[in-house]
Amino acid sequence: MSDPILCADVGGSFISMGVFTPGSALVREKQKRPTPTQDLEAFINAFREMSAPYPNLPLHIAIAGLSDPETGLCKAANIKAINGIKLREVLEKSLSRPVRVGNDADCFALAEAREGAAKGHSNIFGIILGTGTGGGLILNDKLIVGRGGYTGEWGHGPFIQDMQGKTPYFQCGCGLYGCLETIGNARGLEHLHHWHSKESLNSFDILSNAHRNEPAASKTVSLFISYLSSALAVAVNITGASIVPVGGGLSNDKALIKMLDEEVNRKLLYVPHSALVVPTQLGGDAGMIGASYLS
Ligand SMILES: [Zn+2]
Repeated sequence: MSDPILCADVGGSFISMGVFTPGSALVREKQKRPTPTQDLEAFINAFREMSAPYPNLPLHIAIAGLSDPETGLCKAANIKAINGIKLREVLEKSLSRPVRVGNDADCFALAEAREGAAKGHSNIFGIILGTGTGGGLILNDKLIVGRGGYTGEWGHGPFIQDMQGKTPYFQCGCGLYGCLETIGNARGLEHLHHWHSKESLNSFDILSNAHRNEPAASKTVSLFISYLSSALAVAVNITGASIVPVGGGLSNDKALIKMLDEEVNRKLLYVPHSALVVPTQLGGDAGMIGASYLS
């Protein structure tokens, strides 16, 4: 087994930290505290305090944002404190230890590849269906980060066409219209439901209503599956991924993931011999576990 690593998962709401030894599949000594999203000094201080008991361990961090592999600059819309900051450099200086920083969806894909649902596969497209739509790509066992760190961002791009109100054509946070990000996650499911039924429900209620065959929620979920599966089938055709592990809040709904798997299979050129779209095996620890594999 390798040496232990202090690893963290930084979201818009919480920082989770723990000690992980690659190969052990178990995160130890977990800590959690709110993310100081607005103030860099407070952000650094949180890391200083949380990492203090482990002075000799390197720190690996998954962030809800991107880290440009060439410049080291972070892009994190929901964590203003680190947006436009060379986080790795700043933390290495403040904490006097080696630091690595990666995107949380990339870390999710790494975690499932090395220790979870995608073990034994070489080509993996790991996706997050949570508050946003994320993705991370592993080809020939290697994480592909790409220019600017954007590889795997299947949630963005003009995917839905404007059909004069007949399609859910919304503006995305990235500025474009019709991105999958606007409908293809927990918040998106709620937007989609409101768009066609004028009813405001949370994603949990929409899904449980759909599982009881309530007509409006069933229509929402079938639209949701239809859009997601189309984008995912294209992504799988392009990348040649042999497994698509799913993380994020919606991955808890096993029936939803099964529907998505069946619909993607129907739209693929290659017919897989086993389930392609599968729920995470590592759950909420995947970000931390994957961060430990950042190189
Ligand atoms: Zn977008």
